[in-house]
Amino acid sequence: MASTSQIEINFNAIENNIEFLKSQFKEGVIISAVIKGNAYGHGTDIMVPSLERVGVNHFSLYSSPEAKIALEYKKSGSTILIMGFVYPEDYEWVIANNIEFYIYEISVLEYAISIAKKTNKKAIVHLDIETGMNRTGLSLNDLKKVIKIILKNREYLIIKGVTSHLAGAESIANNSRVTKQLATFKKRVKLLNNNEIKPEITHIACSAAAINYPNSQFDLIRTGILVYGYWPTKETFINFIHKYKTREDKLRRIMRWKTTVMSIKKVKEGEFVGYGLGYQAQKNIIIMIIPVGYANGYSRSLSNNGHVLVKESRAQIIGTVNMNMTICDITEIPNIKIGDEVVLIGRQGENEISFASFAEMNNSLNYEILARLPDNIDRVLA
Ligand SMILES: *Cc1c(COP(=O)(O)O)cnc(C)c1O
Repeated sequence: MASTSQIEINFNAIENNIEFLKSQFKEGVIISAVIKGNAYGHGTDIMVPSLERVGVNHFSLYSSPEAKIALEYKKSGSTILIMGFVYPEDYEWVIANNIEFYIYEISVLEYAISIAKKTNKKAIVHLDIETGMNRTGLSLNDLKKVIKIILKNREYLIIKGVTSHLAGAESIANNSRVTKQLATFKKRVKLLNNNEIKPEITHIACSAAAINYPNSQFDLIRTGILVYGYWPTKETFINFIHKYKTREDKLRRIMRWKTTVMSIKKVKEGEFVGYGLGYQAQKNIIIMIIPVGYANGYSRSLSNNGHVLVKESRAQIIGTVNMNMTICDITEIPNIKIGDEVVLIGRQGENEISFASFAEMNNSLNYEILARLPDNIDRVLA
């Protein structure tokens, strides 16, 4: 059975984006594809094997259920890293499956050691350092205690990485904060090294940091949004085109979200369309109905506002986006038939509905719209 819309994932675009990232990132750096939020809405089941085909074998995400899905679809040589919260009862499964995870509190370390002891299996961990974001991570005091604990419990631990996260590398407005964070991070890494704790992988960069602060690249880059073909912010893109004296956007969006024409009707001048008094026809018009609404992740704020593509032309949404249907004006677009393809996001012929424009209309970020695409839309590799 098919869902009422489909998300098409373009393999060539994935390949293109990873090639582009390799050209931007320093030689030998590990690319960890961030696949939290069902791979930013693209579908973990499709993204993991596709990324492996183009040479990515490190995946970062946020929970044990996300790790479970990634584990099911990854090859045996690929690494999974949980950057966030795990319920205590799930750590045994995490450790048993060689899934790596962040130590962001002393209690998490103590718990990991207790499970490792009990199961006779080493926990593979990354020390998450608080460097100025004031979110998760070990403060200097915590870190000193952690060092003592690690030195006493070496046989239960593999200290694989040391990490932190930058608070806003996507905007120059945060420059002094980010620069300070990088300096603090280096000091903490040194403190570890001075205590004979030498993690194999030092990492702090997300997409924006890797582009805007190349010296933040260290051994691994946790990159999400660029993989999927979007710039973290317009500012990051502008920064990039200035630096490389190019106007060309080398990224390709890998997602196309499409549905189909469900019904077509004529509406007489003066009639209202849809619920309530939201839209009144100013002349005789023709409308089409598409089987997608806010229950399918299509934002209600596109009411009377957004566009879709049909027959390679833009059709405006009229009235409110309903829970499972949306109405569009097709008066000026001839020859539309029931069953024709309608594009909600992405290209159709020469036209494109970009997430950027969608995001502006929608007053929210690419990240949020992508992450909110429901799991129950069929994803297909194209
Ligand atoms: C989401 C996330 C990333 C990736 O961010 P992008 O901007 O998509 O590259 C990296 N690190 C952490 C800790 C994250 O939560």
